[in-house]
Amino acid sequence: MISLEEALSQILNAIHPLGLEKVNLLDTLGRVIGEDILASRPIPPKNNSAMDGYALCWEDTRGASREIPVILEVIEDIPAGSIPSKTVGKGQAVRIMTGAPVPEGADAVMRMEDTEKDGQQVRIFVEAAKGQDIRNAGEDVRKGEKVISRGDILRPAEIGMLAALGRSFISVYQRPLVAILATGDELVDVDENPSPWQIISSNSYALAAQILDCGATPLQIGIAKDTREDLTAKFKTALRADLIISSGGVSVGDYDLVKDIMKEVGNRMQFWQVAMRPGKPLAFGAMNNIPLFGLPGNPVSSMVSFEQFVRPSILKLMGHRNLFRRTVRALLKEPIDKKKGTRHFIRARITFEDGRYRVVSTGEQGSGILKSMVKANGLIVLPEETTSVKVGETVMVQLIDQSLVQTDQLEYL
Ligand code: AMP
Ligand code: MG
Repeated sequence: MISLEEALSQILNAIHPLGLEKVNLLDTLGRVIGEDILASRPIPPKNNSAMDGYALCWEDTRGASREIPVILEVIEDIPAGSIPSKTVGKGQAVRIMTGAPVPEGADAVMRMEDTEKDGQQVRIFVEAAKGQDIRNAGEDVRKGEKVISRGDILRPAEIGMLAALGRSFISVYQRPLVAILATGDELVDVDENPSPWQIISSNSYALAAQILDCGATPLQIGIAKDTREDLTAKFKTALRADLIISSGGVSVGDYDLVKDIMKEVGNRMQFWQVAMRPGKPLAFGAMNNIPLFGLPGNPVSSMVSFEQFVRPSILKLMGHRNLFRRTVRALLKEPIDKKKGTRHFIRARITFEDGRYRVVSTGEQGSGILKSMVKANGLIVLPEETTSVKVGETVMVQLIDQSLVQTDQLEYL
């Protein structure tokens, strides 16, 4: 037996981030950036107006009021995008639109509402403060400032910033191609017509979806029969992937063919009994230096093992710094007994009520009960040494989806 920590640390030590590729700005959403972004220009590039109004010298407006307005000569009109041609001098103003560059000489903008146009002149009804309603060049971003760091995840805000800096091609970590091979004579694909004793290879799809959920690309290798020839041939077709996952055939007492073939086609293969439940059997090694995972075949074991071992590995391949799902502490709503010596992952429903997380298991916990995953949004993680937990005790729950982040109510109202 090997502990989960030990297995995970050996796995992650063997996984290294993939290379970088340059992609179109909009294809970077959710990806990890592979370069530091230093601003090539200030934002805004020039002082510009924050209001529609008049650019003027603030000192000219001293003493201005509704009753005794200051009268200035309007020397130019500057819509957004046009370049001022004149310098604003004493007693002068230019009509200016939001976003338009503030002309030389002007040091304040007076909003339209506090003015009245009269031919070539404008009446100013209030005093201006120095710099008012001017957005200064570089007030958002200084030229040369580092705005995004290598390793950051690109969200809509970062994409906006990259666009603002004129960057339409960005270097990001590659998305791994992850091969999935289901193994088992009893398996058929989803569109085949199964005889009553055949099983549809749901793992092929659950795993593919888990891979997509990581931001990686699944590659279906298909279903291998439990024969030497078919397993060898199918494993070899996985060689163009960046990571290979098989399911089935690694348990104790299993027909050992999958393990035998993995030993032949793979290198540094380890066949572990991890002190966890579900997901005790686990194979890990490489094939032509491509990391290779042999996951257990039971649908829940396959998914839970993926969560604990494969997901962090894929995220590491993709350059992510944060490899793990968040774990929160929750009040248990029902008692749970377990065997000492293994870490249990109990499929559970976690909710946030009255300012606290509360959690209940999703029922029958057999490793073939896929429904226990369908109902779950978290995994209660019970440590090796624990034998029982009571109602009201605090347990760790690993969150496995976004259900606690999204809600049906606008909660701030
Ligand atoms: P194994 O690990 O190959 O002994 O499989 C354990 C159990 O998981 C058996 O009941 C299999 O039928 C089932 N199983 C194996 N692979 C799959 C799969 N791809 N999809 C659904 N069930 C599977
Ligand atoms: Mg099998």
